[in-house]
Amino acid sequence: MRKKDKLDADVIIVGGGLVGCTLAALLAKNEFRCLIIEERDTTGNSATRIDPRALAMTRASVNILRAAGAWQHLSKNRIGYFSEMHVWDENGTGEIHFDSAELCEPALGYIIEQTILEQALRQSLEGNEYVKWYQPAIPSSLALEENRITVVLEDGSNLNARLLVAADGARSRIRTLAGIDYPQHDYHQQAVACVVETEKPHVQVARQRFLHNGPLAFLPMADQKQCGIVWSTSPEHASALLAMDEQEFNQTLAQAFDQVPGEVLSSGPRASFPLQHAQAKQYCRPRLVLVGDAAHTVHPLAGQGANLGLLDAAALSEVVLDARNRNRDIGAYQVLRRYERWRKGENYIMLKVLQGFKYLFESNLEIIRHCRNMGLDLTDAATPLKHMIMRYAMGLAGDLPASARAIL
Ligand SMILES: Cc1cc2nc3c(=O)[nH]c(=O)nc-3n(C[C@H](O)[C@H](O)[C@H](O)COP(=O)(O)OP(=O)(O)OC[C@H]3O[C@@H](n4cnc5c(N)ncnc54)[C@H](O)[C@@H]3O)c2cc1C
Repeated sequence: MRKKDKLDADVIIVGGGLVGCTLAALLAKNEFRCLIIEERDTTGNSATRIDPRALAMTRASVNILRAAGAWQHLSKNRIGYFSEMHVWDENGTGEIHFDSAELCEPALGYIIEQTILEQALRQSLEGNEYVKWYQPAIPSSLALEENRITVVLEDGSNLNARLLVAADGARSRIRTLAGIDYPQHDYHQQAVACVVETEKPHVQVARQRFLHNGPLAFLPMADQKQCGIVWSTSPEHASALLAMDEQEFNQTLAQAFDQVPGEVLSSGPRASFPLQHAQAKQYCRPRLVLVGDAAHTVHPLAGQGANLGLLDAAALSEVVLDARNRNRDIGAYQVLRRYERWRKGENYIMLKVLQGFKYLFESNLEIIRHCRNMGLDLTDAATPLKHMIMRYAMGLAGDLPASARAIL
């Protein structure tokens, strides 16, 4: 038998999170044999780790998740949506207001808990003859040969494929093993996330207030009185927020948000996440490619990280399918460069825009404060500019893969 017939899979994906599972589902649809290596045991108790993040998902992401067969697994009463967004600054009068009706769209975006989405993705892969899981398992080294790449696991087993995908998050071990540089900018901030119950209904409005330490967002969930909150703040303040008892936390939160949702009546388990922004120097090497947070991380202030990752997955599956249709090697560097050129540029723009927002909103210099309040009001009044921002944030603009463009 020739060596090439002995491959364990067409594609090995390290990381069975949101982006890795989406990619596996899209590839499996086209009969690529995928093998997912995941460090957690997602079938056991560790699958229910505390991760209270509620994610804002764009229309493009919903389309991709639908194409992956996962959106269909979500119960309707777990999917929130927002048709308006209100952003304002603690220090001043500037504000901006987005309304989906201005674009004749039903919603600006959808809100869903990260763990629920991951469960739906795993469910959609269950019983799929093209997808195999290795979990819990951690790669320890890589070996590149002419026609294949081999992943050696910590338990000593070897797995090989034409293409290896790093979908193992911001601290990607695969990226490190491949020696790809990942210049990072540490924001010296933590994001505290949890789900809260509020006195007043959210009426489908997402709200974000820029405080002196960072932005605080209330994201409307399926229940009218439930919101996912993300509070980006200094590490010291985040530790203090995590240490508070529930009553103190609820009061502090309501005050910080100017009582807009009324009282905060209850709050679920809290967790904090370090914030950084980064982009890998390269997205690909021969037979190796990076997707999702393994390739880039952004500040959660605009809720774009997972959305960019899902676009990576959709673009990569398209590039790989096109290569196979042309009888090209799916792990060839020239093939993977097409994905890199496509996604790196798009992600870079978003990275820079979010970085700019972050600095603009966090400066306490009088002149900057004045400019940003004026800027918010001007943008609010400048309809074409506002509509362009909305279309990008909703995932309706940019160089979108076909599955992201499909009609909902
Ligand atoms: C507070 C907060 C709020 C956010 N809100 C939003 C939002 O509203 N909208 C949005 O789009 N994005 C948001 N994001 C970003 C979003 O959560 C991430 O971009 C997304 O989770 C990245 O998905 P991923 O699959 O690339 O990586 P991850 O979710 O990190 O998944 C990586 C997977 O790889 C596994 N893994 C890691 N290392 C290894 C290893 N060595 N071997 C095997 N497996 C491994 C992990 O167990 C995990 O399953 C937010 C982030 C934060 C911190």
